Amino acid sequence: MIIDCHGHYTTAPRELDAFRKQQVDAAASGAHGPARTALRISDDQIRESIETGQLKLQRERGTQLTIFSPRAAGMGHHIGNEAISLEWSQACNELIHRVCSLYPQNFVGVCQLPQSPGVTPANCVAELERCVNEFGFIGCNLNPDPSGGHWNGPPLSDHAWYPLYEKMVELDVPAMIHVSMSCNPHFHTTGAHYINGDTTAFMQFITSDLFKDFPTLKFIIPHGGGAIPYHWGRYRGLAQDMKRPPLSELLKNVYFDTCVYHQAGIDLLTRVIPADNILFASEMIGAVRGIDPETGHHFDDTKRYIDATPNLSAADRQKIFEGNAHRVYGRLSKKLAATPGR
Ligand SMILES: [Zn+2]
Repeated sequence: MIIDCHGHYTTAPRELDAFRKQQVDAAASGAHGPARTALRISDDQIRESIETGQLKLQRERGTQLTIFSPRAAGMGHHIGNEAISLEWSQACNELIHRVCSLYPQNFVGVCQLPQSPGVTPANCVAELERCVNEFGFIGCNLNPDPSGGHWNGPPLSDHAWYPLYEKMVELDVPAMIHVSMSCNPHFHTTGAHYINGDTTAFMQFITSDLFKDFPTLKFIIPHGGGAIPYHWGRYRGLAQDMKRPPLSELLKNVYFDTCVYHQAGIDLLTRVIPADNILFASEMIGAVRGIDPETGHHFDDTKRYIDATPNLSAADRQKIFEGNAHRVYGRLSKKLAATPGR
């Protein structure tokens, strides 16, 4: 089975955007905004959006399961306040749960957290528990910068995050480090802010003792690890100069996905990062939706690059396509075993 660990519901029915617009407009005027019970989307609308979108591409590209979460740029943690972020996160997570319930063979859920700038991340614990225990989700997306590009909250090593990490460890769920939209005009959302977020998170891990405190905590750094694999020598050297442990220590807790949209990039990733630490992902119907004129294939059809790279053995490919996902997402195997028809 080929598991894509990074997919968002980017094709959600337009009612979701209309609901969000009402929320954002209300937030701008200091009002409360609509409750998520006002959001009406039918099962048929969900089926239409999935069968002409992510499911169609799964079939065309030969993958079987997507670890699926709300649209990342849409999380917009910087908009409104804690109450608005919670209502929005719950609405988005419930929609993901409906997709996963309609297509249990093809999608497993990961939740958005109700983060809000200046609010302790402990506020995310209840929604994480709800999504894991009631909906059967297997992970969360954690935004290292809920300010949307201003980076004025505590770094990931700060003890403010610890209640959330404690719950992740207790539930045995990893987090994908994933920023949302940028509201800082210096940073294009998917071209700069995303890659900054990935790179920044890894450097915060290098300079902290986070994994001494949480030896079983697991993070996936998406988009191929941002700039990290390309600059592996820089980070190894920085760690050495700062008398920090070698990067191999971090690889007990940190994993990279394959959302890198060209062959040379995947060749580099698979040469630098051990196969045990790479998870297949495409983020399809995401940031880059076009066809590469040099290859004639979609940029985000990443399975092709994994298939073609000379750096991997058959056993390595099995790990990247399937095996590592089962190790990193501790609840996945049981979840799949309990899925009717599997
Ligand atoms: Zn993403």
